[in-house]
Amino acid sequence: MFCHRIRKILLLLAFIFTAPISGFSWGFFGHKVIQQLAIYGLPKDMQVLYHRHMALLVETAVRPDERRNADPKEAPRHFIDLEAFGEHPLENMPHAWDAAAAKYSADTLQKYGVVPWQVIKLKERLTQAFFRKDLDSILYYSADLAHYIQDAHVPLHTSLNHDGHLTGQTGLHSLWESKLPEQNLSAYNLKHRKAQYLKNPEQEIWEVVRASHVLVPQLLAIEKQVSQNFTQDTKYTVTERNGRSRKTYTDAFATAYNQALGTMVEDRMRAAAEQTASFWYTCWVDGGKPKLDRLLATPRTKAESKQLQQEQKAWKKGTLQEKDLLLTKIRISLMNVVEWVSSPFV
Ligand SMILES: [Zn+2]
Repeated sequence: MFCHRIRKILLLLAFIFTAPISGFSWGFFGHKVIQQLAIYGLPKDMQVLYHRHMALLVETAVRPDERRNADPKEAPRHFIDLEAFGEHPLENMPHAWDAAAAKYSADTLQKYGVVPWQVIKLKERLTQAFFRKDLDSILYYSADLAHYIQDAHVPLHTSLNHDGHLTGQTGLHSLWESKLPEQNLSAYNLKHRKAQYLKNPEQEIWEVVRASHVLVPQLLAIEKQVSQNFTQDTKYTVTERNGRSRKTYTDAFATAYNQALGTMVEDRMRAAAEQTASFWYTCWVDGGKPKLDRLLATPRTKAESKQLQQEQKAWKKGTLQEKDLLLTKIRISLMNVVEWVSSPFV
């Protein structure tokens, strides 16, 4: 058993030193924060289950990004390159998959990304999971559905110029969605509205895509404008990672860019949390509003209720981070690992 433990510790160290800090979308940090915030927007009847499984939901918020390495079909589910569909893509694109595929061909849609249809597909799967009262599926599809909704809130996930590479602004993707939230989260107002029932989820997700896409010219222009106050040396830094050097924006540039963007990033994060909660809630209602407390392995404790109350209070006051109540990657991993290392089996 001792050997097993040593092996586990070595595996853990390997994980810590090789795990990416940010992923393909919202960064791992952003997805996880949004996932946690969404739970606070749910009605109490749903929170009993979602809060009990909060660590799992937060941890698996990035599973679709992790799948991209293994599954070539995964990548297009995270974006839609709207400019590929002509001058007025939002007016011309049919919302329903069949109509859109008839107009542009399924292959073309796959090539330029399918995020809105992926959201609708998973909305159906989660609704069915609620009908079946199938706990594993509820948790699995809640996490996956949330991920794609959150991706659709990132402006650069709706553009052919997804990394600023077509306009000489390469690296803008991870600056906007990873570095800025990581650097500035404590200053963000992330209190969103309670979950709403979505009468027309298809229209809702297309509205999300539209709201993201209209921000693209603005975030590109602001980068150009802020760049005027920087030289190449003060704007970029070169970092070594896995034997490869990468040019990324400096902290000083990120600070100036964030200031110039105003509340753009926090607004999209807040909207993403609210829509995540609303989609979960809508699936639950459409899935027959099953009693979720009956799916708990053990009854809810007073301590759990108190903990949730405390977190919600901090969320409303904007002090989650300050009070160390955010289940970010490091904290969850360490909690899970302590449990894992001390368990008898590998
Ligand atoms: Zn993604």
